[in-house]
Amino acid sequence: MEHNYPPTMEEVKREVDLHLEKNNDMAQIFDVYKGILAVQLSYMDKIKVQVNITEEEISDYFRKDKYLLSDQNLKINVQLFKEILSEVCRAIKEASPEAPDSLLKLSEAEEFKEENIEGFLEKVALFSKNQLEDYVAKKEIDKAVGLDSEVISFAIFMSLSPFYSLYMKEVRGITDFTLWRQSYCPVCGQIAVIARHRSKDRARVMECWLCHAQWVYPRLECPYCENKDHKKLRFFYVPGDKARQVHVCEECNKYLKTIDSKVMEKDTLLDVEVIATTYLDVLAEREGYRSPEEVDALN
Ligand SMILES: [Zn+2]
Ligand SMILES: [Zn+2]
Repeated sequence: MEHNYPPTMEEVKREVDLHLEKNNDMAQIFDVYKGILAVQLSYMDKIKVQVNITEEEISDYFRKDKYLLSDQNLKINVQLFKEILSEVCRAIKEASPEAPDSLLKLSEAEEFKEENIEGFLEKVALFSKNQLEDYVAKKEIDKAVGLDSEVISFAIFMSLSPFYSLYMKEVRGITDFTLWRQSYCPVCGQIAVIARHRSKDRARVMECWLCHAQWVYPRLECPYCENKDHKKLRFFYVPGDKARQVHVCEECNKYLKTIDSKVMEKDTLLDVEVIATTYLDVLAEREGYRSPEEVDALN
């Protein structure tokens, strides 16, 4: 079975519990994840998203390798966004009591005041993780609110995610993503950081961490540099856990964490796997490979 976003809390709990049986050190990070997801799910019915684009227009974007939100406007209800942000911060703090109290005040920051919030969200709408972190630091929002730019950026993305996910679901009702063949998301443009080989046909399915769009990318090609020389594409895994793999390209030196559903004998939730496999990021980087999200100066 393929998972469509969003999962239910029961599904998430079941998978998280399996990970915790093996490694209870991850209990807190998963509590943070579950707390945030509960907030996101509770707002899914309250958010209204309008998609005014035809199937033909979408195909036209995809043929030009253009993701939809590159110039389609996603209208975000700023009041709801602010509520979600405040709830997300509360959920993070609840799951990690040692987090600074200033987290509970983030939604009151200057940027989120009524007169600024729309401009702020427009400005950051197409930012990658790194770009948002840099922007937060450059504008000294981190200093003003007393939080790391990474934490602020994370909280903002987690609060935007329900809007993007609902937009993606609307789009998926109009078209599938079979025309799309990029490492970045056809809907919101974020770079995929994990993929799965689905069990039914073993195709590689990329998934966006922000809007949760899923699309197929050929397995015998590097998604980042389009290298097709199979001698330069390989993968490794930790002995005893063959289902969780790191696929690397010797041409551009980037890696992609990949879950092999056939070996796993089920299709797991990639959001959960991203968290559960951080040891693979450490391994890959130790081997000299670069995260998919690292921006290429040459491109
Ligand atoms: Zn996306
Ligand atoms: Zn490559």
